[in-house]
Amino acid sequence: MYNEIKTSFIAKIENVMLARTIGVGFLVNLDLKLNFVNEVKTIISESVTNAIVHGCLNNEKKYVNFNLSYDDVNVYIEVEDFGVGIADIDKAKEPLYSTKVDEERAGLGFTIMEVFSDKLEIKSKINEGTKVLMVKRYKWL
Ligand code: ATP
Ligand code: MG
Repeated sequence: MYNEIKTSFIAKIENVMLARTIGVGFLVNLDLKLNFVNEVKTIISESVTNAIVHGCLNNEKKYVNFNLSYDDVNVYIEVEDFGVGIADIDKAKEPLYSTKVDEERAGLGFTIMEVFSDKLEIKSKINEGTKVLMVKRYKWL
């Protein structure tokens, strides 16, 4: 069983809700537990918010790519922006590290993504952008 969807939307904070809704709709065929779906919604929110706010600096001329797929075992969530990039990925992943504390950011986004997924992969280049891939297992054969 394989399915895949590729979407792209402008870097507008309202589109976080859109991405969550797309995620739920895409996974509906897998008949997953509510708890699993809620965790997916949470990691989608965190990763897409980061792409819009930190990556694209809310610049509505920029696009965020949001791609989803699943196979027999895993769900794959990929969020890509073409924004500012991350200078130090290890530092960015540290719990409570945020470059926007003044704007009520807790610095917990990456920590949440790590906890609610089985694999978190971050690729980033300064002034080119950031790609975050999360793999979440739903079936144990
Ligand atoms: P919270 O997610 O709790 O609201 P936060 O977004 O600051 O706060 P994280 O999501 O853990 O915390 O991200 C940590 C830091 O990594 C951010 O403050 C930002 O500096 C950087 N960062 C995260 N995603 C991106 C991105 N797509 N592009 C550029 N920088 C990013
Ligand atoms: Mg965040």
